[in-house]
Amino acid sequence: MTDMRIDEDAVVAFTQELVRIRSVNDPSAGTAELPAARLVEERMREFGWDPQVSEVEPGRPNVVAVIEGGGGPGPTLMFEGHTDVVTEGDRAAWSFDPYAGDIVDGQLRGRGSADMKAGVAAMIYAAKALVEAGPFPGRLVLGALVDEEGLMLGAKAFARTPLAAEIDGAICCEPEAGEICAVSKGAVRLMVHFEGAMAHGAMPQHARNPLPVAAEFVRRVSEVQAELLHVHGVHEHLGPNYVTPTVITGGDTDQINVIPARAIVCLDIRTTPGVDHVELNGRITELAGACGEPAGVSATVEVVDDRPAVDTPVTHPMIVALAQAHEAVTGAPAVYGGVPGATDGTILTRDAGIPTVVYGPGGKWIAHQADEFVAVSEIIEATTVYAETARRFLTAGSPD
Ligand SMILES: [Zn+2]
Repeated sequence: MTDMRIDEDAVVAFTQELVRIRSVNDPSAGTAELPAARLVEERMREFGWDPQVSEVEPGRPNVVAVIEGGGGPGPTLMFEGHTDVVTEGDRAAWSFDPYAGDIVDGQLRGRGSADMKAGVAAMIYAAKALVEAGPFPGRLVLGALVDEEGLMLGAKAFARTPLAAEIDGAICCEPEAGEICAVSKGAVRLMVHFEGAMAHGAMPQHARNPLPVAAEFVRRVSEVQAELLHVHGVHEHLGPNYVTPTVITGGDTDQINVIPARAIVCLDIRTTPGVDHVELNGRITELAGACGEPAGVSATVEVVDDRPAVDTPVTHPMIVALAQAHEAVTGAPAVYGGVPGATDGTILTRDAGIPTVVYGPGGKWIAHQADEFVAVSEIIEATTVYAETARRFLTAGSPD
């Protein structure tokens, strides 16, 4: 266990306070992260810290506190969370008020309870426990960022700051059911434009119809997925690579007698570490061209978004400290896992080169669902593990 004193009641109560704020980025409802960010800022000031509050967009501030250990030089460890939540959706799908933040049978319930107000509360109270235990080498950075559920504008803005360049490791406190997730899948979003020639539906001999080409491309894109499976296999924590058509458009339902000039197919591609995105995009471009060529339809591939996979070695001192802390606190062996989607950690690694790991309270699959909850015991456990991880990593990493 740990001899640091975790304020268990307070971290749970603070999670409840955060859940009661509907911090959905919803311009039509006039809501965003501001009230949740302000609550985080106020709590940090109560603890004697001096957080920097910087607006990424109006009403959407990142809150970042730097806590010097006062125990001599050492590394800089970041704990990261986001203050936004996804919408509750259809309230009829919930069996309780998504913003009541009540506790029933040991479960703290509500939108954002797991994803990830519990994680934000846990990292703040872990830092408090570490500070109260006495001076420590190095320093902690706590970042409560905005827009993780959107375009990750908060993480992108933070990654551009000079502070980001000084961080030796970041723990993203997302709900992973206590699994240590040092790997996250990469993601590529492609828009494939097919261009032929328009003609009257009665005279298809004068057309270069992009629709059969798009259909052929959608059918054959599974070949690319099969090639990836052949070369890269199934990752132990992330599974196989996926190349999934998600959008197909072309023509006009009001103009059924018109053969259109253009069609678009969008692909959502999810990659494991080691897949070269440039090479993969080249392969997709080649396939699209091959499908269009016999019909005289040209193909161009537009990269809409490109997020690399995260693959932090489990021998990184931050992850060693996290695994040791997890085992010391829970009495159970560390379990390693992977993140199927992207998190703020993806951006911190991609844009600032920060080694990241995802670990936090709450079930892996409960995020974004109706009847979201987090077990109270998991909040307390994660808080304790974070505090213990920080102490071990900062102490082990100090020069003396
Ligand atoms: Zn999240």
